[in-house]
Amino acid sequence: MTVEIISVGTEILMGNIVNTNAAFLSEQCVALGLSCFNQQVVGDNHDRLADAFKLALSRADIVLVSGGLGPTEDDLTKETAAEVCGCSLALHQPSMDALKAYFEKRNIPLTENNYKQAYMPEGAKVLENPNGTAPGVIIPYKNGKDADGGTTEKKNAKKYIILMPGPPGEMKPMFLNSVRPFLKKRSSGTIYSVTVKETGIGESSAEELIKDLIDTQTNPTIATYAKTGEVHMRVSAMAENKAEAKKLTAPVVKEIKKRFGKHVYTTDENVTLEEAVVKLLKKRGLTITFAESCTGGLLSGRMVGVPGVSDVYKTGFVTYSNKAKHKLLGVSKKTLKKFGAVSEECAYEMAFGAAKAASADVAVAITGIAGPDGGTEEKPVGTVYIGVCVRGEAHVVRFNFSGNREKIRDNSVSAALRMLHSDLA
Ligand code: ATP
Ligand code: MG
Repeated sequence: MTVEIISVGTEILMGNIVNTNAAFLSEQCVALGLSCFNQQVVGDNHDRLADAFKLALSRADIVLVSGGLGPTEDDLTKETAAEVCGCSLALHQPSMDALKAYFEKRNIPLTENNYKQAYMPEGAKVLENPNGTAPGVIIPYKNGKDADGGTTEKKNAKKYIILMPGPPGEMKPMFLNSVRPFLKKRSSGTIYSVTVKETGIGESSAEELIKDLIDTQTNPTIATYAKTGEVHMRVSAMAENKAEAKKLTAPVVKEIKKRFGKHVYTTDENVTLEEAVVKLLKKRGLTITFAESCTGGLLSGRMVGVPGVSDVYKTGFVTYSNKAKHKLLGVSKKTLKKFGAVSEECAYEMAFGAAKAASADVAVAITGIAGPDGGTEEKPVGTVYIGVCVRGEAHVVRFNFSGNREKIRDNSVSAALRMLHSDLA
């Protein structure tokens, strides 16, 4: 069964609000095993709304709509959907009673235009909205014609337009309480996904490594997503139930893990790279410290985002100036003068110095030129040296990142985490 999502609202088109409703609904549909091939965003305009509904009905079984159910003139969703489905609107007494009760409870006068919210398409199923004034509606599409004007009989048509209010605080509970059970009854299966996350192999090389698997995919399917310094591979299978779907994903996940080896840091959708690093440190009983120059504490900040990091992380250093590098980490004045603060030598001394000063087993040092100024021909903006020292053994890697200051700093943090993971795994 296919679903199409339509988000109604001129303010979405104008970029004034972010379309989080569509993201929520898509995610929910995927979990129910429903295929969603198209989404539309349409403004509060009768003709364009009607076109959107007709197009959606021509290619999907269920049209999920959010927005435009309010009491004002510009809220046209219900009227237009009823028209497209060939239903007239009639007073729905339970909705009128609920509306009156809602206003009475809040001691606000009910205005004339609110009455419009109690008029419902005939033959539709009305969905309660305890969080607002606009009820939802499930309208069967029963006019016996294709939405594009064709004449295919649809006596047993199983198509519906489902309307929900725009505010996420009203739409989400309505979806979960009323719409989800309705869809679940009609869904023939479920989708189960596993995300294999790897770091250290770029997206194109990663795809090359599993090209044969991707090329022959049917069920499960494999999709790759590139993140900063990481590639996530989502393996999704469709089956009658979760256990069956899980069985289908297992051999593919195993094969991907085998091919990426140590580069895979998790197969848990919710686990981040920094969490995986903290887990490795705990497993090996190691403490860690950071000496950051151009990242100014960003790496430390990401690590401290992991709950329970205090077992492994006690202290860190933001040493932006040469003076601080010398004073807090013991980087020699000679090194700073001869090679500069952005150098392999300095990164080594920062890493060793930090490990010593913090009495930590592991230390990471980052020193680089984040720009926009400060670059030279030999060391252009984006040159970053990262040193990792594990129990007295250190190595330094030079990176040449591109992009603006923010991107260079972000990339530096990801690269440091990647090096750490590779050294500890
Ligand atoms: P109301 O009675 O508030 O007018 P409505 O059903 O007519 O409800 P809209 O007017 O379309 O809904 O939207 C009301 C508010 O809900 C928007 O201003 C916005 O904050 C939020 N909203 C609407 N659509 C979306 C969406 N697709 N994603 C996220 N938020 C949305
Ligand atoms: Mg509105």
